[in-house]
Amino acid sequence: MNQKPSVLFATAEVHPLVNTGGLGDVASALPAALRQLGVDIRILIPAYPRVIDQIKGIPVGESYRVLPGASPVRIFQGILPGHDSVAVYAVECPSLYDRNGGPYTDSNGTDWWDNAIRFGVLSRVAALFGSTDGLAGWSADILHCNDWHSGLAPAYLAHDPNARARSLITVHNLAFQGNFSPDLMSALGLPWSCFALHGVEFYGQLSFLKAGLYYADHISTVSPTYAKEIQTPEYGFGLHGLIAVRNTALTGILNGIDTTQWDPQNDPYLPARYGPKKLVGKSVNKQILQERLGLEALAGIPLLAMISRLTYQKGIDLVLDVVEELMTQPVQLVILGSGDRDYELQLRQLARRYSRRISFLPGYDEALSHLVEAGADMLIMPSRFEPCGLGQMYSMRYRTVPVVRCTGGLADSVVDTTPRSLVNGTATGFMFYGANQAEFLACLLRALLAYNDPGVWSRVQDNGMARNFSWESSAKQYLAIYDSLISDRTWLQVRRSLETMSRP
Ligand code: ADP
Repeated sequence: MNQKPSVLFATAEVHPLVNTGGLGDVASALPAALRQLGVDIRILIPAYPRVIDQIKGIPVGESYRVLPGASPVRIFQGILPGHDSVAVYAVECPSLYDRNGGPYTDSNGTDWWDNAIRFGVLSRVAALFGSTDGLAGWSADILHCNDWHSGLAPAYLAHDPNARARSLITVHNLAFQGNFSPDLMSALGLPWSCFALHGVEFYGQLSFLKAGLYYADHISTVSPTYAKEIQTPEYGFGLHGLIAVRNTALTGILNGIDTTQWDPQNDPYLPARYGPKKLVGKSVNKQILQERLGLEALAGIPLLAMISRLTYQKGIDLVLDVVEELMTQPVQLVILGSGDRDYELQLRQLARRYSRRISFLPGYDEALSHLVEAGADMLIMPSRFEPCGLGQMYSMRYRTVPVVRCTGGLADSVVDTTPRSLVNGTATGFMFYGANQAEFLACLLRALLAYNDPGVWSRVQDNGMARNFSWESSAKQYLAIYDSLISDRTWLQVRRSLETMSRP
């Protein structure tokens, strides 16, 4: 039997320890699915407040300094709550991680001033797990880095004579790059020789994400369409050139969803459970949701929902653009989310103005997100870009029809309703192309028309509910990359020759 590689999965967030969005969901579900395939995969995260308690962590090894610019760290080992078979290492460094606020920002939403050091330490610890000696009595064959927060790990590996692991970086969102002043090079323990085009430099700054994209042996992103999009100036945020050069080492793998946690037949957050053979619960949830939100409890009026960070990326401004026109139709709207203050203010005003028809729920509330998914008729995701998106997959499973912009993972997981897709049984939602008011509104009106045709609507719902978005097939694709990396030294050789050629 062929030996499976050991993998360290380095991440800044993981459900249910700390979660701000899609990355946290993926960081628990993907390792759990890979464990099912027999992979010894262990998660590495910073020990934010309460993390060590939640993983029932015990210290492994002494405390030691990993970066010139940071206090010493200790490693705690425990298990991921809800997934007993998945081991978690937490990096304890109270001066960096033990503070109130979010993983990236303080409670006012301002980035932590020392994020470079906070995630430099995470990256450096990850790289040490990939050295011949390993760390805490264990070493990884593969470092699986995620987003910019662990993007420096492949750079540390590249400069460590004792490195043995191969590396993969998964881009969950290219817009967040972790760009900092080059003055931090020494504090981060990086040699100045790598502050170069063929290295960590990016428009005069030190970029964690660019470091990962340049030094990692392989790059993946969270949907096939996003893998193509990030090679273009429109979606590449300045990194498209490098990504295009590396496109033979780039794979797009659509995220799955945690089908145990998101299962309307077994969801503890729902007042009424339902499934493909027992549909009545859905309308009960709708009624309870309407009552809870202070909306008129009318069964026949379509209830539209958005569950999202309130940012330009997610197209919340497009929702604000169409809302007055939308209110000329018999519809209700619920928005659950937090983000830019200005959007929150506008949504509060709207909810006051249309108090029986629009509800705004500020904040991040997991329990409520399940009830909204179950009670709504449509989930709207007018994203400008969407690397994968999870809400549309949850919604199909919950018989809630997604109305989405055709981009990234939305394009890969939703099939627009057309006469043809209705006939061949593939229609699962409604899709528009241009990120503008007119196209979004036209798409919403198309969906509202379909809602009023019960025969069409229930077919779209049935098709969505029958889709399988479990992690199994995606996890197999990740395993295939890990396996191929063990022997693939192509990029290492190309990189070395690039660096030699560019030396003065
Ligand atoms: P992103 O990671 O860009 O925020 P994704 O669609 O990949 O977007 O993942 C967002 C996840 O976070 C989904 O599971 C969504 O249901 C959840 N979510 C977003 N905002 C909220 C909120 N305010 N309350 C509860 N869950 C939320």
